[in-house]
Amino acid sequence: MKKSFIIAIDGASSTGKSTLAKGLAKELDFVYVDSGAMYRGITLYAQQLGWLTTTHFDKEELIAHLDDIQLTFANNILLLNGKDVSIEIRTMSVSNGVSQVATISAVRAFLVAQQRTIGIKHNVVMDGRDIGTVVFPHADVKLFLTADANIRAQRRFDELKPVDPSATFDAILENITQRDHLDSTRADSPLMQATDAIAINASDYGIRALQKYVLKLVKKQMGS
Ligand code: C5P
Repeated sequence: MKKSFIIAIDGASSTGKSTLAKGLAKELDFVYVDSGAMYRGITLYAQQLGWLTTTHFDKEELIAHLDDIQLTFANNILLLNGKDVSIEIRTMSVSNGVSQVATISAVRAFLVAQQRTIGIKHNVVMDGRDIGTVVFPHADVKLFLTADANIRAQRRFDELKPVDPSATFDAILENITQRDHLDSTRADSPLMQATDAIAINASDYGIRALQKYVLKLVKKQMGS
């Protein structure tokens, strides 16, 4: 069987990874996997069952019930145990809890196994924090996106406002700064640039220009 082609896109919150990954997947007819949505799905589940609140987190309960959680994508929409949760996973409440959930090694192992299974069967563009370092260390193309924190907060604010009217720019800026810190300092699979990843400052490009530039890199790697 021919090995699938893997494009790994990592970087901090709201650097434009998802927009780029989605565009590339469409152009190349690859499967797009938003790994952050999977961590958000588990966070939502823990919140719905009262295991994760603003004041306490029953990690043991979540770990014991991981096998009850089924995450699937239908047309890039995350289904949590069969239910469309694409709106709920973007709320500030989930954004404020997700990085705590993502520190748990059992949660990471549970999701990494699923992410690798998708990559065995399909050509994939996957975005996240540990895709080029842990999930697919042998990915065909690895990118690491950076961007100015204010630009990132504005991007998230524009996306979130229609979904969560209570969101403010300041709260979002604080959330992404805090997540960057938690994500890059955790013990298991911290956010970091793979040694063989291409670093791109997304603030230097418009989305079309960025996609064009990356497509060129990918096609070169594909030999076409
Ligand atoms: O990409 P997004 O901002 O939706 O990711 C939400 C959170 O999920 C991140 O802040 C991080 O804590 C976690 N995450 C992770 N590893 C990934 C993808 C996301 O730890 N591969």
